[in-house]
Amino acid sequence: MVIVMKQNTPVDELEQLKARLRQMGFDIHLSQGENHTVIGLIGDSTRIDESQLQANPFVDRILRVQHPFKRASRMFHPEDTVIDLDGLKLGGGNTLIIAGPCSVESEEQLMTIAQQVKAAGAHLLRGGAFKPRTSPYSFQGLGLEGLELLRRAKELTGMPIVTECISVDTVDLVAEYADVVQIGARNMQNFALLKKVGQIDRAVLLKRGMSATIEEFLMAAEYILAEGNERVILCERGIRTYETYTRNTLDISAIVAIKELSHLPIICDPSHAAGKWEMVTPLAKAAIAAGADGLMVEVHHRPEIALSDGSQSLKPERFHRLVAAVNQIIGLNKSMVH
Ligand code: PEP
Ligand code: MN
Repeated sequence: MVIVMKQNTPVDELEQLKARLRQMGFDIHLSQGENHTVIGLIGDSTRIDESQLQANPFVDRILRVQHPFKRASRMFHPEDTVIDLDGLKLGGGNTLIIAGPCSVESEEQLMTIAQQVKAAGAHLLRGGAFKPRTSPYSFQGLGLEGLELLRRAKELTGMPIVTECISVDTVDLVAEYADVVQIGARNMQNFALLKKVGQIDRAVLLKRGMSATIEEFLMAAEYILAEGNERVILCERGIRTYETYTRNTLDISAIVAIKELSHLPIICDPSHAAGKWEMVTPLAKAAIAAGADGLMVEVHHRPEIALSDGSQSLKPERFHRLVAAVNQIIGLNKSMVH
């Protein structure tokens, strides 16, 4: 249940109401935006007498939330969440581009790509040190050595780091090096991992599971939010369908639906959606045109020898052109009437 308060509600009235609701056994989620003060109630609200609440002169409206996700819901938090990443803002009309190799492979590889994506206009650097690979015989990542290289790349370029965590026991280690901890598609419903990243002081980039519905995706975010970490970034990266021409099928409609259902920023990873570098720029443009808050793009200076995902990695000069095209669309979006 959501209680929308009137604009002029005095602080002590708000506090009194919150205290009463807490006494009744509810967990409270307060959202105080520029235009709204909303009290979100978590708990069994069937036993609430709505007419009693309506009698409070500072209560504007009472709404029943039908969705199973509460904290992730726009009803609980009408205004877009804006996430600050080392001074860079994401969400609420602020668009960011994350780029870098699929895996951290060597010092030479990472420093070269980091400098090139920065020069092309990327804001954050990505690179996997712990890789969730389908085959146990594929490159599994450099682990701690990869994290150390990411730290050096941040010192070199100033770019905040996005890197994946694949197990509960490495969350604290990864969080020491990462500005944003990525939870990959394969772990979207690893609930122990979601709870653990819900307890750290780092933003979390949560990728949509390959067969997850939008509701399951938002419920996964709810796990992180429920632990107290409100800095959740959602990422649409394509889902599995009957189509085999592309690696996955980019679900642009999920971006639009999530904008409506949730206040959390949603970005798009066109690289894992396409699986082919030729398709990455058109998909990136489509995602931004549809309202995505950002992109995560795989870039490699020598994709032909990449240890993972070379076929979907853009060369730096092509990535440069992607950024230029996307910036034009961002400009258009801003000038358009919605
Ligand atoms: C990745 O970002 O390198 C990755 C493994 O992505 P996903 O979890 O979307 O497959
Ligand atoms: Mn990859």
